[in-house]
Amino acid sequence: MLTVTQSGLYCPAADFYIDPWSPVDRAVITHAHGDHARWGSRRYLASRAGERVLRTRLGPEANIELVDYGEPVNINGVNVSLIPAGHILGSAQVRIEHRGEVWVVSGDYKTEPDPTCAPFEAERCHTFITESTFGLPIYTWRPQRETFDELLGWWRDNAAEGRASVVCGYALGKAQRILAGVLGNEIGPVYTHGAVERLTQDYRDAGVELPATTAVAALPKGTRFAGSLIVAPPSAAGSTWLRRFGDHSTAFASGWMRVRGARRRRALDRGFVLSDHVDWPSLMATIDATGAECVWVTHGYREPVARYLEERGLRTSTIASQWEGEGEGEDDTGVATGEEETS
Ligand SMILES: [Zn+2]
Ligand SMILES: [Zn+2]
Repeated sequence: MLTVTQSGLYCPAADFYIDPWSPVDRAVITHAHGDHARWGSRRYLASRAGERVLRTRLGPEANIELVDYGEPVNINGVNVSLIPAGHILGSAQVRIEHRGEVWVVSGDYKTEPDPTCAPFEAERCHTFITESTFGLPIYTWRPQRETFDELLGWWRDNAAEGRASVVCGYALGKAQRILAGVLGNEIGPVYTHGAVERLTQDYRDAGVELPATTAVAALPKGTRFAGSLIVAPPSAAGSTWLRRFGDHSTAFASGWMRVRGARRRRALDRGFVLSDHVDWPSLMATIDATGAECVWVTHGYREPVARYLEERGLRTSTIASQWEGEGEGEDDTGVATGEEETS
């Protein structure tokens, strides 16, 4: 049904690619993160829920056909539909059915509830292509409420000391999840980096409820930042952009903060473990829930995950991604943050 080509996953029967690495005639897009939604293809198929963020990423010229979750599309006799992936706004798994055989391509996903996007749905299939960003047993997430409470406590302590709190997280998805996580709690004024602000507005336009924010660049000169919460992309960590905030504490919200040393390497004061990918137990539970006999593993700890599944009697294959050696996915490096302002 699918093969791996120079441009990524390809469906020969219907002549389309999924999240292609280079421009193609027809691209089915799982979500708007830069390592999945690349510019330059002739036409795109994507979820309606993610329209605004995808448009921000691909630009006004992109030819995007939008479908609702679960709405079947017939492409040259192959039945294609998008299923919620629970990763970021508009994120989808791609379900492909042809002659009674069903394949599902997960894209990035998480099964934890997230108020900023539709919840993940496990779909029965013969072959499941899963990501494995955090596919090692050491990666287990605590309930997210605990992480948000920890973040709020950090802000309170900083505010009491007259400091600003700067939390860094990926501009698309993580930043809005942080904002949703503090909604309804006592928090100071919330300011944003320009890259975060634009995507946050896209979320609001799509109907996601988030606290009021103001872009730092739009603030009058002389604004005092003590007691405020500032949400910024990963690239802001350690940059001169932070100087304007005076006395401040920095934090990073990412699944990678689970690993000892990750915070120190970035010279941050705090690390909050918050991921938009499944942890190990949820990865295994999801694979079980699909009922798949064959699992292709991509995007992360492919080999250990494949080996573990083989031992449990599944057939597996691993797919190298084009991003080899660049850190696995947006959570780590902030891939495709080229549109960020630096001021
Ligand atoms: Zn992603
Ligand atoms: Zn990804």
